[in-house]
Amino acid sequence: MAVSIKTRGLIVNEALMGEQDKRLVILCVDKGRISAIAKGAKKPGGKLASQAQLFYYCDFMLEQSKGFWMVREASIIESFYGLRKDIEALAWASWMAETAQVLTVEGEECNDLLKLLIRGLKMVTEPQLSAKMTAVTFVLRALAENGLQPEVDRCVQCGASLGIEPSLSAMAGGALCPECTKRFIDSIRMNAGGMYTLRHILSVPPETVYKFNATEEIQESLFQFATRFLHNYVQKDMASLEFLKNLYF
Ligand SMILES: [Zn+2]
Repeated sequence: MAVSIKTRGLIVNEALMGEQDKRLVILCVDKGRISAIAKGAKKPGGKLASQAQLFYYCDFMLEQSKGFWMVREASIIESFYGLRKDIEALAWASWMAETAQVLTVEGEECNDLLKLLIRGLKMVTEPQLSAKMTAVTFVLRALAENGLQPEVDRCVQCGASLGIEPSLSAMAGGALCPECTKRFIDSIRMNAGGMYTLRHILSVPPETVYKFNATEEIQESLFQFATRFLHNYVQKDMASLEFLKNLYF
């Protein structure tokens, strides 16, 4: 017998299946990550064509049949329309969504991460904030909340105080004193402002984590650290980073 559930969730990935269907990855409130097939979602005028879109936050009716989840109904709550008009914000948002996807496990509750992501997707198109800063903030905070919190208060290798010119190393798992920095080829020089920014991202309540900006230099250092730290964990290339590379380099 088919099992049906009602759930609210955010589409973090879409892939074509054949000519007319899509396979969606949805982060659902209380139910965690669910992969579901949206029949006819690619067909013009199809029943789910306007709802089964990346970044759409919807109320879903899902039905499980023969081991697969199928989307039966979907109604849009929030479409994050601003992302469709801003290619840079879209690229950063794609990195956020892919990160959320790799940090979650099918069927395991992920409400905190989902809230953090939805707030981030609202902020990423805010004109007074940097989209890059918002995305870097999301990735570092999401990693920390998944148990991957870098050491930021003392040298992660020897425990010494960091001094005025510390560095960050994804391989070491956090900040390094000048002496230990020499032993890690992936170390990235940080200034006091950069360390302050990172501590802020990791410590403030999630409601206020995005209301913060930093210099382009700090943003780039933290971006480099975040991508390496994430890569150490997921051990695979991310399509969204290719999208960012094509846009910026
Ligand atoms: Zn040290």
